[in-house]
Amino acid sequence: MRVTFLGTGIMGLPMARNAAGGGIEVRAWNRTPEKAEPLRQNGVEVLADPVEAIDDADVVVTMLTDAGAVRAVVETSGVLDALRGRIWAQMSTIGIAATEEMVRRAAAEVAYVDAPVLGTRQPAEAGELTILAAGPPEAKERCGELFDAVGSRTHWLADEPGPATRMKLALNTWVVELVEALAETLALAERLEVDPAQLLEVIRGGAMDSGYAQTKGKAMIERSFEPPSFPLRLAAKDAALALEAAEQAGLSPPMLAAVREQFERAVAAGYGDGDLAATFAALVER
Ligand code: NAP
Repeated sequence: MRVTFLGTGIMGLPMARNAAGGGIEVRAWNRTPEKAEPLRQNGVEVLADPVEAIDDADVVVTMLTDAGAVRAVVETSGVLDALRGRIWAQMSTIGIAATEEMVRRAAAEVAYVDAPVLGTRQPAEAGELTILAAGPPEAKERCGELFDAVGSRTHWLADEPGPATRMKLALNTWVVELVEALAETLALAERLEVDPAQLLEVIRGGAMDSGYAQTKGKAMIERSFEPPSFPLRLAAKDAALALEAAEQAGLSPPMLAAVREQFERAVAAGYGDGDLAATFAALVER
């Protein structure tokens, strides 16, 4: 089994490392080559050319920023041809329209698997991502081997691409609204001169608690947003993708629209490369 990773950022790098650790033969390419170099220590072959990296792969993973990045890579001369006869596991979060576009761009001989993930830096490093997958059944076994190496749960949602991205957008709505609600709750606690750390203790283990409340809440209280697990600029992208999907489905969700605006303001104010939890800083410092 040979897998090629195109994109070795926060997510792609540990995923490639875990795939190699799981006995898979891994090749990697990254636009900024030095970021992929550490993977050599894990037995990964790092290549300077995406077409060469794809050569001989059973599965090619794209784990890139957004639709524009995936487009830029597949428009690189020779990449689409090189994908013929292989499985393309598109694991970046790119939304509905771009998923449809990539399915169209992939030739008929490409088995396109729509496979966004849940989980941030730490679950990616621990091989504990949740993979949402949808694609042709003939790709299931090979992808399963890869997904088991990088994640702890895979939900194969459908035999054609699309539903995995739609599920991811619905879940992103939950995550971005949860984090914004947490930021506003802790900011209010501070302004009302009650201890926000004690607030987290009050909810700990109860029905109002969540893993996100405790981890992101601690980061907010400590003003600790570096290194990012999930950069705010990517959360802003995801909020925009979810809002676009909602509006196309005939919904006008007011909270999601407000969160998208708040995230965009926070990115414009310079918090984009910090963790999503930095929306708290943008709120209290405004
Ligand atoms: P990241 O650390 O910012 O990495 C982005 C990757 O995309 C880098 O390899 C970057 O290359 C590459 N890239 C960007 N623009 C490009 C272009 N025009 N051409 C070629 N390569 C380009 O992002 P990440 O956190 O790994 O996220 C990757 C994807 O997973 C995103 O879609 C994100 O929404 C999704 N996701 C992230 C998380 C998370 O918690 N981080 C969780 C779930 C899903 P360079 O190194 O050269 O910049």
